[in-house]
Amino acid sequence: MPDPWGFTRAPRQTTPRRPVDVRIRDWSEVYESGGVEHVREQAGRCMDCGVPFCHSACPLGNLIPEWNDLVWRDDWALASERLHATNNFPEFTGRLCPAPCEPACVLSINAELSGGPVTIKSVEQAIADRAVAEGWNTPQVPDRQSGRRVAVVGSGPAGLAAAQQLTRAGHSVYVYERDDKIGGLLRYGIPDFKMDKRLIDARVVQMRAEGTVFRTNTEVGGAGIPAAVLRRRYDAVVLSGGALKGRELPIPGREFAGIHQAMTYLTDANRARESGGGPSIDARGKRVVIIGGGDTAADCLGTAHRQGATDVVQLDVHPQPPLTPHASTPWPTWPLMYRESAAHEEGGTRRFAVSTLRFVGGGDPTVPGLGGSGADGWSDADPAAAVDEAAEPDEAAGPDEAAGPDEAAGSGAAVTGIEVAELLEADQAGRSVRTGATGEPFVVRADLVLLAIGFAGPDDEDLFTGLGVARDEAGRVQRSADYSTAAPGVFVAGDAGRGASLVVWAIAEGRAVAAAVDRYLEGFTTLPAPVAADAVPLS
Ligand SMILES: Cc1cc2nc3c(=O)[nH]c(=O)nc-3n(C[C@H](O)[C@H](O)[C@H](O)COP(=O)(O)OP(=O)(O)OC[C@H]3O[C@@H](n4cnc5c(N)ncnc54)[C@H](O)[C@@H]3O)c2cc1C
Ligand code: SF4
Repeated sequence: MPDPWGFTRAPRQTTPRRPVDVRIRDWSEVYESGGVEHVREQAGRCMDCGVPFCHSACPLGNLIPEWNDLVWRDDWALASERLHATNNFPEFTGRLCPAPCEPACVLSINAELSGGPVTIKSVEQAIADRAVAEGWNTPQVPDRQSGRRVAVVGSGPAGLAAAQQLTRAGHSVYVYERDDKIGGLLRYGIPDFKMDKRLIDARVVQMRAEGTVFRTNTEVGGAGIPAAVLRRRYDAVVLSGGALKGRELPIPGREFAGIHQAMTYLTDANRARESGGGPSIDARGKRVVIIGGGDTAADCLGTAHRQGATDVVQLDVHPQPPLTPHASTPWPTWPLMYRESAAHEEGGTRRFAVSTLRFVGGGDPTVPGLGGSGADGWSDADPAAAVDEAAEPDEAAGPDEAAGPDEAAGSGAAVTGIEVAELLEADQAGRSVRTGATGEPFVVRADLVLLAIGFAGPDDEDLFTGLGVARDEAGRVQRSADYSTAAPGVFVAGDAGRGASLVVWAIAEGRAVAAAVDRYLEGFTTLPAPVAADAVPLS
């Protein structure tokens, strides 16, 4: 066990963020390094529980008490070895994971008395960063080759984890990526201020040295490599192309110019960062409205501020969650509650329980009144009031259809605002519930509108048809608990099979699908399989 007095003497202290007025002027990571002694003290708060609930909340089954102990004892090399035993890319999760392990930590049961849960995520990042700095992530070249060939389609965290596991097991692995660079959403979705992209490049160097072959600018299916050719060339195929089809908002006026899918905007911004050029969709000097309330919306917010937007309003169809964990999500589950990301700390206005009625543009004379951030149209209702309705903490809001026009088209006339109405709530026996009624419509001004209302599944229809794999009603590729599809030798992992999820699930699925493929090719496997394809988060 780490320090036997740990949490009784030291309260939880998260890693500091850089000051807002400094970080808003650059694209560097938001978090500062906590310093070795700070991290050791925080790791020393762990009680090495007999039944460590932190484990059960982590899809990777990270050996959290083990590496907390090793950090406290200052044995960083062994801590790194234990961390990498369950996670191929802890420097990604250490930065990006929402850390479901922390609310599941036993010290979360009574945070007031204990001082709060162990800062598991910060300890993970500190170990992972030390491993990078010390050069401990050396290539692990397999000592035998199986002679089997595996194609991995898509280079997000699921594809990368699958490829690394299968390469290390001795198979010849080829990763196909239609983008010009490796990384999937880590590269072109998530902004630099959340994760420095050099960390992906370092893993690609390591994986190449282990024997993984990468083919960028190469689509499989569509206008690229036909499915039949893929089947002929490879003994097994892993589909890990993500779930990148953005949900649409098919309301009147969607055709106005200046309305974009969030991923179009974020990809453009990330590409501009990579190339050192300017973005083609620029928020500079614009009033930006983001529709949606999840990670993607927060990334748009942080990006718009760094590009120099004059004003940003974020509209969420869900009511504002309560400030403390809702009774329906007790320990050790992921608590439903109001959260503020680093991007929210940087500015902008958040509005909850808002229905979007139509886009306004082209000098529409029928506009009933113009609003904006702090606009007249908003009611005086306390935005911090707790609600009882089970709002999802993710971004699954919005209509399910992908029915909008091609956003690249635009009608020529520019969007100037969005007509909205607040969704009304009523007090029913002490509970605040939605009535279905709305307040008076009014218009929020906008020069740039970003749709961050979730994803409608993978966009590789042609590939799936060619391979003979089916999709479920939510658009995900159908699979069994062992990741296999209806097509023999074809497996699916990550968002393509699970639906839009998290980096930690993508890595866990990548590791597990590698075990399934290895068993298919060899008849047995010694690779770990941390989660079944039908596993669900602790709830
Ligand atoms: C803006 C944004 C922010 C996010 N922030 C976080 C966060 O902070 N923390 C977190 O845990 N999760 C976050 N997520 C979710 C997380 O990024 C995803 O769950 C994760 O990346 C899924 O990994 P994946 O490997 O399944 O697919 P992806 O990362 O989507 O990668 C799929 C790759 O496959 C390629 N591809 C698709 N089809 C083909 C084809 N036919 N041929 C060749 N290549 C193909 C695509 O180009 C893409 O590069 C965020 C998501 C978004 C959109
Ligand atoms: S639940 Fe918390 S205190 Fe217990 S082992 Fe896990 S991190 Fe340590």
